Amino acid sequence: MFIVKKINQLISGKILDKKRIHRKFSSRRKKLTEHIRNKGIKDPKVLQAIEQVPRHIFVDTALENHAYEDSALPIGSGQTISQPYTVAVQTELLEVKKGDKILEIGTGSGYQAAILCHMGADVYSVERHEPLYLNARQKLQELGYRPRLKCGDGTLGWSAYAPYDGIIVTAGAPIVPEDLIQQLSVGGKLIVPVGDQEVQTMIRITRVSEDAYEEEQLKEFKFVPLIGEKGWE
Ligand code: SAM
Repeated sequence: MFIVKKINQLISGKILDKKRIHRKFSSRRKKLTEHIRNKGIKDPKVLQAIEQVPRHIFVDTALENHAYEDSALPIGSGQTISQPYTVAVQTELLEVKKGDKILEIGTGSGYQAAILCHMGADVYSVERHEPLYLNARQKLQELGYRPRLKCGDGTLGWSAYAPYDGIIVTAGAPIVPEDLIQQLSVGGKLIVPVGDQEVQTMIRITRVSEDAYEEEQLKEFKFVPLIGEKGWE
């Protein structure tokens, strides 16, 4: 009886914590979502995820007051959590449907993975920096998201779980990594920023059949470099 009571208290405490996390900054999140809508993002599922996923949990508490500004922020290991608008653009380009299997390269803070989980995707994500991988794993768990995470070189993809309906690369690549193209299912989309280390063009590659692909070149962005065997040295 005592144990049951304790468990109930723990569960209701956790639910209260989650409610508190979601209530905090909710009006700032609404404003940020409005700003992103005004910048041209139309997919209601993407906008809803931006409005509901607590970005402040994915940054250091010293920076949480800035979490709902439309800017990239430092997350340690010399890396950044992407600008919310950039997250929205990449996510919209993926055209995620509930249950889609999505691979993310560059887990970073875990925020983009949380957005994809929130949209009902089955998420796989790879990060090369162990402290970031561990931190993202903890934050995502705390919020109740269950992506599959790995610490390693994402330029090689994650062949064990391929093929994917979508692959999103959140760091700037010198060329489109061939392994990632190979790990797309037919109909799958790869979203990858490609360029030099100053500026990259967002590229969307759609696998239209077993051996045919379509490429679209979209807007320019600035990302931290994708470092690895098929990326920068
Ligand atoms: N999606 C992240 C988020 O929501 O916070 C953005 C992360 S940041 C812009 C890009 C990340 O890519 C960094 O954490 C960096 O360490 C990681 N990265 C760079 N090269 C990588 C590679 N070859 N494999 C996996 N991660 C890589």
